[in-house]
Amino acid sequence: MTEMFKNLIAGEWASAGNASRNINPSNTNDVVGEYAQGSVEQMNDAVAAAKAAFPAWSRSGPQERYEILKKASDEILARKEELGRLLSREEGKTLAEGIGEAGRAGQIFAFFAGECLRLSGEAIPSVRPGVGVEITREPVGIIGMITPWNFPIAIPAWKIAPALAYGNCVVIKPADLVPGSAWALVDIIQRAGLPKGVLNLVMGRGSVVGQALLQHKDVHAISFTGSVSTGRKVAEACISSSPMKKVQLEMGGKNPLVVLDDADLKIAVEAAVTGAYFSTGQRCTASSRLIVQAGIHDRFVEACIERLKGVVVDDALKSGTHIGPVVDQSQLDQDLKYIQIAKDEGGKLAWGGEVLKRETPGFYLQPALFTETTNAMRISREEVFGPVANVIRVKDYEEALTLANDTEFGLSAGICTTSLKAATHFKRNSEAGMVMVNLATAGVDYHVPFGGRKGSSYGPREQGAYAKEMYTTVKTAYTLA
Ligand code: NAD
Repeated sequence: MTEMFKNLIAGEWASAGNASRNINPSNTNDVVGEYAQGSVEQMNDAVAAAKAAFPAWSRSGPQERYEILKKASDEILARKEELGRLLSREEGKTLAEGIGEAGRAGQIFAFFAGECLRLSGEAIPSVRPGVGVEITREPVGIIGMITPWNFPIAIPAWKIAPALAYGNCVVIKPADLVPGSAWALVDIIQRAGLPKGVLNLVMGRGSVVGQALLQHKDVHAISFTGSVSTGRKVAEACISSSPMKKVQLEMGGKNPLVVLDDADLKIAVEAAVTGAYFSTGQRCTASSRLIVQAGIHDRFVEACIERLKGVVVDDALKSGTHIGPVVDQSQLDQDLKYIQIAKDEGGKLAWGGEVLKRETPGFYLQPALFTETTNAMRISREEVFGPVANVIRVKDYEEALTLANDTEFGLSAGICTTSLKAATHFKRNSEAGMVMVNLATAGVDYHVPFGGRKGSSYGPREQGAYAKEMYTTVKTAYTLA
């Protein structure tokens, strides 16, 4: 019998009229579980539960919050192998990547447990004699969260942990394609001692429960991660609601990795291949545009192909697999559509791009590398969100920087070079929110800010101490002494 997973509303597990099957992309015969598909009524109940819980939770002390977050962190870390296996089974990233991501969720909870004890304010003299000024941070209120499928435990963790640490109540709607890891995370946090209603989970379709969350008048803020097109709808709904909602959007990328003639070839190839293709290229920070100087171009392409020949695409849970399957049929169709577009535009498919057959039925795609592409082609401008990357040949550093910045996105950008001058100039002049030197554009720490510019991000940064910009609101109080 397939297990049925319910929504969490006011501290109780609530079944819904409908359910959706969570399918393993490495083996479509394997059903991970049946997950509730919530209704508008359930979403309204969840927001009402959060509203009822807010007065007490917002006044809870830092010690209580610390203990709950620390306990959740301890359980996540103790169970990271099992949680990582669930994640790989439902999303298709390799077991090592799944366990790594589950561990990351545990570290995030440990970090924000500490943040509970570090919240501070300022007391400063007024410009008016005899008056004192205090600047404090208060919780924002009820936070709605909408998350994508590609980091099914880390993204819910990096939104929920700071929201709770700073005294907010939460209603989260995870990706309907991959809800299992978010369900497991919410279960752990609830059992860590959270009062009923502080955290609520409503799974289901974005167009139904997601919309209901966006339109609810009692929700004060929305933290969204997903595609640009959905992000735009989220922002519009937040601005047009009354009262307006605070909003944070983390969206797509078309991240450049510049490789200069003086680069260490081994470092550059490793950064390109791991950055572009690992996690099946399904990362907002994937190094999908490889901008390579003419002098190293042919050696770089040749070495990338050699490296790709050794990459094993197979069942995410099998040992020895380097790249798991694409998440589902519609994403595979999108990847193949872009491979065709790149060919039609005149790009040369230098490696891969074939659908692969493995022991079990799944969405296996050989990593695709295009050469002879320009920055004007659609393959360079639009996010594919799969194991597809293209090489653009440039004459010098100046041209590389211009093309790196010539994009609607601005999440992450990298440069491989041994020149301190070029690296320093790139760090200062890149129009991305995160810059990497001799590293892939993907792969970030959990204790520092995460986010981009231009079409990639909108609103405050996520993660690290900067998360308080989203999850607190500043109060300035004046007192006549
Ligand atoms: P998506 O935009 O299709 O869906 C994201 C979430 O929004 C899902 O939970 C979905 O159910 C919900 N949703 C869809 N329509 C909605 C609506 N009308 N109202 C409310 N909610 C709605 O994105 P996806 O396919 O799940 O994820 C892939 C995208 O996420 C890529 O573009 C990727 O770059 C981006 N992403 C960005 C970051 C980042 O931090 N910048 C991280 C991971 C993924």
